[in-house]
Amino acid sequence: EAAAAAPHVVLLSSPGMGHVAPVAELARRLHDAHGFTATVLTYASSDSAAQRAFLSSLPPAIAAATLPPVHLGDLPAGAAIETLLSVEAERSVLAITTFLSDLKSTTNLVAFVADLFGAATLRAARDAAGGGVPGYLFFPSNLLMLSLMLHLPRLDADLFAAGAAGEFRDLPEPVRLPGCVPVPGADILQPLQDRASDAYRWMVRHGERYRDAPAGILVNTFDAAEPAAAAALRSPEPWRPPVYPIGPVIRHHHPAAAAAGDADDDATGCLGWLDAQPEGSVLFVSFGSGGALSLAQTGELARGLELAGHRFLWVVRAPTDAAAAAAGGDNPGESYYDGCRSKAGDPVGFLPAGFMERTKGLGHVVPSWAPQTRVLAHRAVGAMLTHCGWNSVLEAVAAGVPMVAWPLYAEQRQNAVMLCEETMVALRPRVAGGEGGLVLAEDVAEVVREVMEGEKGEAARAKVRELKEAARKGLEPGGASYETLAKVVSEWKKTA
Ligand code: UDP
Repeated sequence: EAAAAAPHVVLLSSPGMGHVAPVAELARRLHDAHGFTATVLTYASSDSAAQRAFLSSLPPAIAAATLPPVHLGDLPAGAAIETLLSVEAERSVLAITTFLSDLKSTTNLVAFVADLFGAATLRAARDAAGGGVPGYLFFPSNLLMLSLMLHLPRLDADLFAAGAAGEFRDLPEPVRLPGCVPVPGADILQPLQDRASDAYRWMVRHGERYRDAPAGILVNTFDAAEPAAAAALRSPEPWRPPVYPIGPVIRHHHPAAAAAGDADDDATGCLGWLDAQPEGSVLFVSFGSGGALSLAQTGELARGLELAGHRFLWVVRAPTDAAAAAAGGDNPGESYYDGCRSKAGDPVGFLPAGFMERTKGLGHVVPSWAPQTRVLAHRAVGAMLTHCGWNSVLEAVAAGVPMVAWPLYAEQRQNAVMLCEETMVALRPRVAGGEGGLVLAEDVAEVVREVMEGEKGEAARAKVRELKEAARKGLEPGGASYETLAKVVSEWKKTA
């Protein structure tokens, strides 16, 4: 009877909605387009009401399960997020093996897919009772980032001779990866900027595992977005698994999900406000699910938006150093921003004095969260100022919206290099020297005007619309991403 059942796949997501959402969306695609049932497996550490609401809004054919909690109390206080995610994966291998073994006896389990921090867990797929199942990786970033990870063990050995001092940012030449835009060392992945750190060691170890653990690597990008890198990585190499660009895999608006109170819910009234704005007139400003600026930088951005004079929809977060500032801490912007610090009960109290009143007709400021994919799809949005998180970039591309690149952490700086110098769908503000490299208000205004009304903005808009079209076509039967996933899926079905 098991053979007649729909093929089943288990997808393991690292903690965080930025990881869970694309994994769940991939499960949905495997169900809708290829007849699979699926289980989205998450870690106990990431269990939250919002995540539960989101997962329970998926179609009934997609189940959700949570792994038992893992002891992490022995890790040093302040351990990097990369270390926490990697150790949690490592210590969950046995639980995942048991989970897969059980599912193998009750479903037609044909594959296990782990995401970027989960390469160690592919061992569980191999060891599952009854001969195991093939283990794949789902890489939620782009080919530039994947290529960096795959080459990292060798780069680490070649660039930094045994015992030599120095960091990526000290390299005299940019890092060159096959088919990829050269990336200055200072813009390389943030956890690689300190070679003495645990996070650095973990990334090298992940790179080693990527080279031989997965049966294949699915990547959330598409050929037209990175044509030369795709050509390089699509050709088979004996030293690494096959690479499959299958994206963009992005959240689409599902009314049922919004009703369940997930990320699409418009509690902050963004869509209503956008409805009243002219077509293409609004700059959407968002730094992802967790990005925040310093108090000084928040003030410069606010003054810059005001100066630019274009309509804006800004998802603001409390500044990273608000607590320090409120306590009278030593903040570079302190005297300048006197009187604009976070006040209890006022979610935007850290904005410059009078900013909200002066920009009343011009801008809409929402604290913490906006239904981003619905905002980007709105006809009133003309551009996005983004932290260059890869989900946000794919969502902007899928909506045909040009970007201002404002990278903060993770692989965002290298994404920005790609978007501004290779793909040409984003513009970069000038960063002032000294004082921690602030983007000053005048420079914010200049880049906002350029993306909204300038020639470079127009060129980026034309380019991003081409990419949008290519992304759409790629996901239809006959398109590159669709056929690539179909090929992987047909391999899985042979396992049944
Ligand atoms: N997001 C959202 N509303 C917000 C901020 C973020 O819906 O106000 C969503 C966004 O659409 C994207 C995800 O959260 O799907 C952020 O992922 P990304 O990779 O861009 O950045 P991260 O949060 O991982 O830094």
